[in-house]
Amino acid sequence: MNILKQIKDCAKTTPKRIAFRNQNQVLTYEELWTASDRLAAALETACGGNRQPVAVYGHKETFMLVCFLACVKSGRAYCPIDRSVPDIRTEAILKCLDSPVVLTPGKLTAKTDKEIWDAGRLARLAGGGTRQEEGDAEESCAVGSGERIPQKTAVSGIQPVSGGDTFYIIFTSGSTGTPKGVKITADCLNHFLEWSVGLGGPAEEKQGAVFLNQAPFSFDLSVMDLYTCLACGGTLWCLEKEVQEDYQKLMDSLKDSGAGVWVSTPSFAELCLADPGFEERLLPRLRAFLFCGETLPCATVRRLKSRFPQAVVVNTYGPTESTVAVTEVEITDTMAAGSSPLPVGRARPGTRIEIRNEKGAALPEGEQGEIVILGDTVSTGYLGREDLTAKAFFVSGKQGEQIRGYRTGDAGYLQDGMLYYAGRMDLQVKLHGYRIELEDIESNLRKLPGVSHAVVIPRERGGKIRSLTAFVSREQNSMEGENGEQGHEDGAVLRRQLMEFLPSYMIPKKIVVLPRMPLTNNGKADRKALGGMVR
Ligand code: AMP
Repeated sequence: MNILKQIKDCAKTTPKRIAFRNQNQVLTYEELWTASDRLAAALETACGGNRQPVAVYGHKETFMLVCFLACVKSGRAYCPIDRSVPDIRTEAILKCLDSPVVLTPGKLTAKTDKEIWDAGRLARLAGGGTRQEEGDAEESCAVGSGERIPQKTAVSGIQPVSGGDTFYIIFTSGSTGTPKGVKITADCLNHFLEWSVGLGGPAEEKQGAVFLNQAPFSFDLSVMDLYTCLACGGTLWCLEKEVQEDYQKLMDSLKDSGAGVWVSTPSFAELCLADPGFEERLLPRLRAFLFCGETLPCATVRRLKSRFPQAVVVNTYGPTESTVAVTEVEITDTMAAGSSPLPVGRARPGTRIEIRNEKGAALPEGEQGEIVILGDTVSTGYLGREDLTAKAFFVSGKQGEQIRGYRTGDAGYLQDGMLYYAGRMDLQVKLHGYRIELEDIESNLRKLPGVSHAVVIPRERGGKIRSLTAFVSREQNSMEGENGEQGHEDGAVLRRQLMEFLPSYMIPKKIVVLPRMPLTNNGKADRKALGGMVR
């Protein structure tokens, strides 16, 4: 698989087919290929020998995809940053990337000393600086916003990203309070796609199908729908944030989509299931639900299967560090009928799953330990963080036959080659499908004025994390109430302040200000005692 070649072939054979669409914009394969060619050439001219990754900031504008491809065609990795990321966090990411320019079809308010290529400039550059006359259908095509660009392009002499070059960088929550950028190479992505096109049914049956996109591009789940869709010559149907937040709009958009392949977290499907109208008549072409990112409950599968009898439900598992997912299993009626945890699947070809103990020794089947992933989709590490890379990644095997490995921090066990997930071994959680290091929130809380101590406790119900509660203690004589306690208002103020640092999905539902943090005998915050205070 060579994803760039696949897209190019589609641009040649089915130029007018829509590759990408959102509420208001469409982008054909031909437009995508041509505009990204032009922009790649402009990037090369502007950035010259600077091969640093390029930040692409926005949401689900059609130009986002043009920018992604332009970067990789110009030999540069791209890093998607969703507009929901607060400015301070965006600034930290931009600093880490040290991009030569920032591309944005949206509006960048974060501070940066880099040159910003905004929507107008992108449109001009993707059009080679030429604005074609309206109606010049042979020579021009519309990109997203309606900008018209010439179809004939000439990009030569630029070496696109390939092999072991980094294709994209996705930042995930980091326990130190600063996100860490996972580097995924072109090889990793292409190996992943060779497998993902066959998830939930033969690749041939997905040719030209509509794939649903739920996750923002800054989350690696989106790679599963975006590139698997393009590899199948399909149409990506993007559900923007505004659509997902409005039930009626969401159901209308699903109805209009004609989606054949569903890709989301289980949480998102559960949200849709709350509507009785979410059933086969709404999505008559739907043949596969592909899930990843968090525990898939049996009850969710049962409800999906009763509402969509023609669709298969596939559970997949994997962290961003191993390129979206590395195991898969189709959930049968028998599996879903039980109440025990569902398996997360068997390893894809090219991946080996090992369960290891604390000393790093492989454990036999049935024994629980840390899930370790080895194979051709494992990332080359965290951008600019050799320390973190050395802790989590390793290389195994003889010279010439070496494979990369990643210690996931997930607990699990194997049964007849089938992997079962058994929670985390650290303070990372999944909330509504989002990966969050509790320590990330805690260290950002400690940045707030007067906060000396912060502990975040997840609130669980039905085996699933439903919300987060933060407990903080103030520095002495900072905003202390008359009787030594602070009220709810103080917590609300802290919540507001925290929003400047963290995306909304990471903001604890409740922040409780304690006069004193309960401590264990060895002087650490007593998470167990705090857990008992979470209601
Ligand atoms: P992310 O990097 O955001 O994809 O998050 C990766 C983490 O999500 C993994 O390390 C697991 O803890 C969790 N995860 C991914 N897939 C599954 C799954 N199918 N079931 C349970 N947890 C999952």
